[in-house]
Amino acid sequence: MIEALSLQQLQQRFGGELHNGDACFTGVGTDSRNVAEGDLFVALSGENFDAHDFVASVADKVCGVIVSRHLPDVNVPQWQVDDTVIALGQVAMLCREKFSGKVIGITGSCGKTTVKEMLAAVLQQKHNVCVTRGNLNNHIGVPLTLFGLGHEHEVAIIEMGASGPSEIGYLCSLARPQVTGITNVQPAHVEGFGSIQGIANAKGQIYSGLEQNGVAVVNVDDDFAPQWLNAMRSDIATTRVSVEQAADIFATDASVNDAGFASFTLHIGDKALPVNLKVLGGHNVANAVMVAGLARGVGLEAEEIVAGIEQFTGVAGRMAESEGHGASRVIDDSYNANPGSVTAAIKMLATRAGKRVLVLGDMKELGEDALEQHRNMGRLARQSGIDALYTIGELASAASESFGADGRHYPDRQALVRELSAQLDEHTTVLVKGSRSARMELIVQALTQEE
Ligand code: ATP
Ligand code: MG
Repeated sequence: MIEALSLQQLQQRFGGELHNGDACFTGVGTDSRNVAEGDLFVALSGENFDAHDFVASVADKVCGVIVSRHLPDVNVPQWQVDDTVIALGQVAMLCREKFSGKVIGITGSCGKTTVKEMLAAVLQQKHNVCVTRGNLNNHIGVPLTLFGLGHEHEVAIIEMGASGPSEIGYLCSLARPQVTGITNVQPAHVEGFGSIQGIANAKGQIYSGLEQNGVAVVNVDDDFAPQWLNAMRSDIATTRVSVEQAADIFATDASVNDAGFASFTLHIGDKALPVNLKVLGGHNVANAVMVAGLARGVGLEAEEIVAGIEQFTGVAGRMAESEGHGASRVIDDSYNANPGSVTAAIKMLATRAGKRVLVLGDMKELGEDALEQHRNMGRLARQSGIDALYTIGELASAASESFGADGRHYPDRQALVRELSAQLDEHTTVLVKGSRSARMELIVQALTQEE
């Protein structure tokens, strides 16, 4: 944190009640198991836990707590509020207010974490950057990132995920970004939004939530770009980015080599610079132009942007390649899946020489037409020239069916790994993908661990 805050300061600004006096703090924790000495502890409650039960156990360690019910038996300063999640956000809001650097916000259906990390690689060449750790991109994770802002930081990169219609607007009210971008809109997490239009509206809040005179980086290849551009406030500067057409920043001559790495020419202003990506998949060209737009928004030069993009080698679980059984190549894209990212993965796999095997688990949270979406992926894999499709999970079985011959469905991971392992040789590339809850990384581990 940039400056110490006090419970009294919070109570004066946001209301609630103070018990057992005031407390000053420079750190915040929400997990009783690893809250640091002298931190403020925030008692959150979820479906299966209530951290109020653990307040007594951390009372000797922490300087104060935020609670939604007064705990008279616990002798520690307490700020009692209606909702501790909202209070967590309010503490984050104060932390953000003390920060004088630039804040960049990123949302979208897929590619947020990849763009965030690629952008960090670009900005870190020149700036001290505070960046969302891992995937902490919701109403709890964004505050945790903002608590990490320090004097040393010049730029913050905040990943924002939308799980409901007003989430992004809320996250913007905490992080107050000056430069924002939407990677793309896909039918991911449709549940909770009603429709893809609902998703586009929800993500659009990252533009309406920009600070005065902010910069909106808009992917004009997205179907919803006209809607966002029409709704843009007049004080906002827009940077249009594209991989399909001329724009403020755009890519031409994109090609993917045999190993799956893309090259392209990046156009920024009157400059045209060659770029060779070190991260797998043609879709990363779109991520790279978004990164270029965001980096321009905080003043980086075209050459610096290219140098940073070329240093980026990827994020674990997203197109990470290693050697598997029989000297095969195994591409771990197990981190998550929706139709957009599976399409990107199929396209990438299709560029590989030799035998190409896709291992697919369920894509979750797709709503009513989930089965049809899985069938579409099976058909697409077939049309794209994938040689075999192995599936596990109830929904993914629809994909192996529509794939036709060489589409194989398995009741569990062990059975799949056993059969697939026996097929692997140095001419085979296996790409493993599925939603987070499908735990497809366990298949990657089984295919790559020493026999
Ligand atoms: P989450 O919503 O889980 O936080 P995310 O938006 O942060 O996801 P990433 O973690 O960067 O996205 O990538 C998730 C998956 O989407 C990976 O399989 C990745 O290869 C794929 N992906 C990344 N960028 C794109 C893109 N521009 N278009 C399609 N697929 C992409
Ligand atoms: Mg993410």
